[in-house]
Amino acid sequence: MQTIGVLTSGGDAPGMNAAIRAVVRMGIYRGLKVVGIRKGYSGLLAGDFVDMDLGSVADIIHRGGTILQTARCDAFKTEEGQRQAVERLATRGIEGVVVIGGDGSFRGAVELAKRGIATVGVPGTIDNDIAGTDTTIGFDTAVNTVIEAVDKIRDTATSHERTFLVEVMGRRAGDIALSAGLACGAETILIPEEEYSIDEIVERLKRSFNRGKRHSILVVAEGVGSAMDIADKIRERIGWEMRVTVLGHIQRGGSPTAADRVLASRMGAMAVELLLQGHSAKMVGIQNRRLVAIDMEEAVARPHRPDLGLFDLARILAI
Ligand code: ATP
Repeated sequence: MQTIGVLTSGGDAPGMNAAIRAVVRMGIYRGLKVVGIRKGYSGLLAGDFVDMDLGSVADIIHRGGTILQTARCDAFKTEEGQRQAVERLATRGIEGVVVIGGDGSFRGAVELAKRGIATVGVPGTIDNDIAGTDTTIGFDTAVNTVIEAVDKIRDTATSHERTFLVEVMGRRAGDIALSAGLACGAETILIPEEEYSIDEIVERLKRSFNRGKRHSILVVAEGVGSAMDIADKIRERIGWEMRVTVLGHIQRGGSPTAADRVLASRMGAMAVELLLQGHSAKMVGIQNRRLVAIDMEEAVARPHRPDLGLFDLARILAI
């Protein structure tokens, strides 16, 4: 293998730049030519390629977003699109591609592998919703962003004796809500993986109130539904004022934490090694702090499960 490509796809995540840097620098260290593919699969279809050298990834390890930019591309989901992508890669002499993104991006990478392009996936998404890896690049930063915001909201909740619902990202996964909720001492955490009842939430709020607690933070994962609607239902039952904060896209940006930079550097470097060893349709994962190579098709087929032990613990500690 002489030339490899690297692209970022799906939602951006802090640490993607650190992963690109690792792919480029490890590739060059191993004697490869590295080509950046801009704007995910849509750039691949358009032949939006850029030769990467050591300098092109200088000064990016600390930056959020992705210097290669990212996109969603429906045309790539079609056979015609995938055939065209393979042609584009062949014209440029690219034999292997490192795909940094989420499970949708990996489905695309599996299709490329079936058509003879070696692919390795690096899990980059704040949602942490990929099976086969304990954590994904960007998750730690997003959790820390949520913590910072909820800590500030708590100052107001305490001072004004108010109940706040904070809606956090995660798509269909509750991981961000779980980790951030536990770390912020949220009184209640709602995640899509666990059923909840408005009656029970109201009971808990009343119980806290009766023992003198006049403020509460409820962290709601977006996969559960709108925090506004949930607040309305609670308000109807309890009659208190409720405030809702939807944190939104601030959770996707920002400088990556040390944990994400280290993870991205390790995973990006390993992706290059896997391509050089002749692997394809593999995803780099981390399990019990060790990097592993997992079958990509299997990883995207398996449902992701968050650590529900955190849910039980948070409930006990918020008693
Ligand atoms: P995130 O969940 O963090 O946003 P993701 O990688 O899951 O990341 P998607 O929008 O699901 O984001 O997928 C990104 C791109 O991957 C799609 O726009 C499409 O080009 C490609 N893709 C997704 N699913 C498939 C598929 N089944 N076959 C081929 N390509 C796919």
